[in-house]
Amino acid sequence: MSEKLNSQELIALEEKYGAHNYHPLPVVLSRGEGPMVWDVEGKQYFDFLSAYSAVNQGHCHPKIVDAMVEQARTLTLTSRAFFNDSLGVYEKYITEFFGFDKVLPMNTGAEGDETALKLCRKWAYDKKGVPENEAKIIVCENNFHGRTITVVSMSTDPEARDGFGPYTPGFITIPYNDLDALAKALEDPNIAGFLVEPIQGEAGVYVPDEGYLSKAYAMCKAKNVLFIADEVQTGIARTGKLLACDHENVKPDILILGKALSGGAYPVSAVLADDDIMMVIKPGQHGSTFGGNPVAARVGIAALKVVKEEKLAERAEKLGKIFREEMRKIDSDMIKLVRGKGLLNAIIIEPKNGKEAWDVCVEMAKNGVLAKPTHGDIIRFAPPLVISEEQLMDAIDRIKKSILAFE
Ligand code: PLP
Repeated sequence: MSEKLNSQELIALEEKYGAHNYHPLPVVLSRGEGPMVWDVEGKQYFDFLSAYSAVNQGHCHPKIVDAMVEQARTLTLTSRAFFNDSLGVYEKYITEFFGFDKVLPMNTGAEGDETALKLCRKWAYDKKGVPENEAKIIVCENNFHGRTITVVSMSTDPEARDGFGPYTPGFITIPYNDLDALAKALEDPNIAGFLVEPIQGEAGVYVPDEGYLSKAYAMCKAKNVLFIADEVQTGIARTGKLLACDHENVKPDILILGKALSGGAYPVSAVLADDDIMMVIKPGQHGSTFGGNPVAARVGIAALKVVKEEKLAERAEKLGKIFREEMRKIDSDMIKLVRGKGLLNAIIIEPKNGKEAWDVCVEMAKNGVLAKPTHGDIIRFAPPLVISEEQLMDAIDRIKKSILAFE
């Protein structure tokens, strides 16, 4: 074992040897349990980011870690050149869990999105009869679907996109939460799919109007266009239902999941669809060395079981209401708006005396709550769903104290 390094030394290592593609808060974490994390000096924090909603089941959930370790000691990777004794069991479990015929396993969220795009285009050529190379997919302004070239080609965020062209063609961008714009875009007969986040997480937790998803779904059906839901961030109990689409009783044609599909233990993503869509992909047309590996399969089953057993959707629904109510009570003109669903929430910060959302996050960290600003003035609050009401109230007191420090 090398000597123990302190926070400053560890930050310096990342600065010197790591690409500077992130700008983290200056906190160095070394341990996590449930909704709590500890830094290398032993200070305890509430984690109100949950690794962008990957750790819905809480840090190091013992059932998920046990499943992972047990499988890791037995068989980690076969590739899909051979069958293994975990994948089919997982595929049966996850498809029954979400009510689809088939799953295509991948690793990261961005890969899930890429998979959905390929599936949608292939379906358009094989089933809908769109002329070759003419398929288009409608996407929304301010979307976030990951970081690959094709995914940033769909982005309207200059930070994510600029400097990475040439871009993948075949996308039509419309404003989010705008059914008129969707209707207009759907007039093109070569539209294959509509890719949408049920709540735009990275953009700053934009919750669309009630009825947006169900109406958009019906409009897509009327035009034989696939409704593709990216629930990488909103799915798996985060918003108070198993899926955010469940709030409007919409069953997407293609569902993309990631993040909490492993409870943050391992990269596990999945694309779910029924046979008439999924079966357009033939052997050799898509895959991944690690996708569907035995560890991911066992972790996926364990992570979903925890969601059911611990009633995480119900908890998110109940605690989310308390959180928004308490935030709205804070008497500070720095709080411009509180919005969200379940335990996916955001506060829009009005800068005061030169102090911005970043400063609020630094103050919260001092007071034992970790959250991160997104797009300058928005702070997202997304604790692990296993947080107790008592712990939530404790964290809320710390958040209040941090914001009021600027009064
Ligand atoms: N899709 C959505 C809605 C996301 O929020 C994210 C990540 O934040 C992704 C896709 C990309 O996931 P990953 O970072 O695992 O590639």
